[in-house]
Amino acid sequence: MAARHVERRPPASGEAAMACDDALWCAEGRVVEEFVMEQPVPPYLFAFAVGEIGWREVGPRTRVYAEAVPAVLDAAAREFAGTEDMIRVGENLFGGYEWERFDLLVLPPSFPYGGMENPRMVFLTPTVIKGDASGAQVVAHELAHSWTGNLITNKTNDHFWLNEGFTTYAERRIVEAVQGEDIATLNIGIGWRGLMEEMERFKDNVEFTKLKTNQEGVDPDDVYSQVPYEKGFQFLWRIERQIGRPAFDEFLKKYIATFKFQSIDTEMFLNFLKANVPGIENEVDLQVWTEGTGIPSDAMEPVSNIYSKIVSLANEFKLGRMPREDEVADWQGQEWELYLENLPKSVEASQLSALDARYALAESKDYEVKVAFLQLAITSRCRDYHSEVEKTLKEVGRMKYLRPLYTALVQSIGNEEEKVFAKRVFSEARDSYHPIAQGVVESILSKHL
Ligand SMILES: [Zn+2]
Repeated sequence: MAARHVERRPPASGEAAMACDDALWCAEGRVVEEFVMEQPVPPYLFAFAVGEIGWREVGPRTRVYAEAVPAVLDAAAREFAGTEDMIRVGENLFGGYEWERFDLLVLPPSFPYGGMENPRMVFLTPTVIKGDASGAQVVAHELAHSWTGNLITNKTNDHFWLNEGFTTYAERRIVEAVQGEDIATLNIGIGWRGLMEEMERFKDNVEFTKLKTNQEGVDPDDVYSQVPYEKGFQFLWRIERQIGRPAFDEFLKKYIATFKFQSIDTEMFLNFLKANVPGIENEVDLQVWTEGTGIPSDAMEPVSNIYSKIVSLANEFKLGRMPREDEVADWQGQEWELYLENLPKSVEASQLSALDARYALAESKDYEVKVAFLQLAITSRCRDYHSEVEKTLKEVGRMKYLRPLYTALVQSIGNEEEKVFAKRVFSEARDSYHPIAQGVVESILSKHL
């Protein structure tokens, strides 16, 4: 969006129109809008949206835009009321906000991503509106890109971790300041589980477990994963632990100030790191982290009371004990998500139905919880949830949800019925998906059918 905005209407009278020397904007009934963007950005960060759009003011430099339906706009405004606080936290941590406006646009459910960090106006999936302000985490992520990704951009996709690893780190620092250390640690825990799953997914294709990859001849959408996010986060967190937070914060600020509005690669980052943190290469194996496969031995699973309690409750479920209501009284989506992700891939179907009967997870308004539960229901061959799975696959097009659900359906070995079901649902839902999401689902189906 614009730093300067000019709207020109064609002259009304025939006389004035004679003087018009621009056939395009002088044509009858046309309005030409010109936008000027003062800050340089790489082309992938340019986007525009068309629709019947309304807005609400949520902060001194933030409006939330969405479909012009008052209930949608009000819910969005409530969800994102804390945005200005997060921008200020970001400025304290990483330096001034360079883009003037930080507006949010809530897109239709077919949007294939959680968010896209278009400078000045972030695009968001409507699934982040959960009614409890927990969508703040996705906003924190896209906001963090204002410094890491948008201000400093990866030169090519081989260095994508410079965008997403830094942003995941920055996001969690913002979340820690705004929502507290426990929530930040929970997010690190969820990320850690995700990273473990990617190691499994790429076990026959370990090139894509590296931070610095070689994507020549590869479609980036085919190898998109949590690796650049979570392994990148782990790498930066490892450096932070080595040199201490104050020194790392100082380093980050200097890094951002040095490379802002530039595109860089892994070598440039490493050279800058070595120059500014002398001797770091003797303490942290930078080559293993950036060029090695798998997870380095000095990566760390987070430690926190809530996190270990959730993991131990999940372990107890394996022994047949369901969490008591007092144990989950203050759980929100993230706690449930982590709990479900720590259960075995396949559990007793009757036990799963009992858990759902008590806590209504399949119908959660929080898609992270709902999808984690449905995925488990599929892998546990709990048929009761087919209609909920179908409904979910037809109402959202976010790849984060499509990928695990379709994968779970088609991976069930010797279970032809699930595959037929997956194929039918996809053929009916296909037109409502974004082309990138259509491609991803097609490749999941073709691998297994
Ligand atoms: Zn990102």
